[in-house]
Amino acid sequence: MELQQLVDRIAAEVKPGGAVADYIPALARTDPHAFGLAVATLDGEVFRAGQHDRPFSIQSISKVFTLALALAENDDVWTRVGREPSGSPFNSLVQLETEQGVPRNPFINAGAVVVTDHLGLGASDRLLGFLRQESGNPAITIDPEVVKSELDHSDRNRALAHFMASYGNMRNPVDVVVHEYVRQCSIAMSCADLAKATLFLARHGVRNDGTRLLDVSGAKRVNAVMLTCGTYDAAGQFAYRVGLPGKSGVGGGIIAVVPGRCAICVWSPGLDARGNSVAGVDALDRFTTLTGWSVF
Ligand code: GLU
Repeated sequence: MELQQLVDRIAAEVKPGGAVADYIPALARTDPHAFGLAVATLDGEVFRAGQHDRPFSIQSISKVFTLALALAENDDVWTRVGREPSGSPFNSLVQLETEQGVPRNPFINAGAVVVTDHLGLGASDRLLGFLRQESGNPAITIDPEVVKSELDHSDRNRALAHFMASYGNMRNPVDVVVHEYVRQCSIAMSCADLAKATLFLARHGVRNDGTRLLDVSGAKRVNAVMLTCGTYDAAGQFAYRVGLPGKSGVGGGIIAVVPGRCAICVWSPGLDARGNSVAGVDALDRFTTLTGWSVF
C-alpha cells in the first residue's frame, strides 16, 4: 500500500478518545477529538492526514531534542541522570530521595530538568533554533499563554528541582532552570514540522543539512532511551504494541522513529490514564502493523 493511502486509512479508522490534560489550564481548552498525522521519509517526502499542519504544544516531546543537544556536546550528562525506566509517574518525587537526587532517566520531569540545567541559560532558544532549522519552518514559536499557564502551576517541577539542588545536582538557580524548561515544553509545532525535525534520529544522527548532530552510537542511544522510557510508565505497553522508539507529551503528540526509513508524528489531545494520546498510540500501532516496519 502507498504511504499516502496508508496514512489516509489510519486517519479514517482511529477513534480519538480519552481526556485532555487539565493540570496545565491552557492545555485543557484543546479539542480531545482533534487528530493529525505526518510521516516524513528519508528521501524528503512528507505524507499527511487530518490536522497535520495545526500547531500544538509539544510538551515532553521537547525532552528528546534537549537530550540530543546535550549529548552532541559530550556524554557528561550521564553523570547527572540515569537511563532506566522509572515505572513511576512522570512527575513523581519518590525515587529522587532513595536515589540521592539523580533522576532515573532524561524523559521524566526531574531528568529533563537536569538536562535543561546541563544545557544552561538560553537552552530553550537553542532548542527553538534547532527545531526551526530541522523542520525548515522559521515561524515556529513558543506559546506565551502556555508558558504563563504552566509557570503558574509549576510547584511540582520547582519541588523536583529544589530537591535535586539539595543533592548538588543543579548548576543554575532553580527558577531560571524551571523557566527554561517550561519555555521548551511550550513550543508549538505541527505534526508535519515535528516529523521533519525528528528525521535526524532516523538518519542515524545526520541533520537535514547533511552535517552530523550525533554519531551513530549517539543516535542509537537516544532512540534506545525513547523505546525504554519515552511513553511514561506505559513504555513496555508501547513497545509491545508499536515496536518503535517513541516519545509522547501531555499535549497529545507522539513522535516515533523507524531508523533508516522515516520519522512519524501523530497528535490527538485525548489521553489515557498514563498520559499517552489514545488515538496516537492506536495510529502508530496500526502504522507498524500495516507496514511491518518496526525495530523488531
Ligand atoms: N510541561 C509538562 C510538565 O512539566 C510536561 C509534561 C509532559 O508532557 O509529560 O508537567
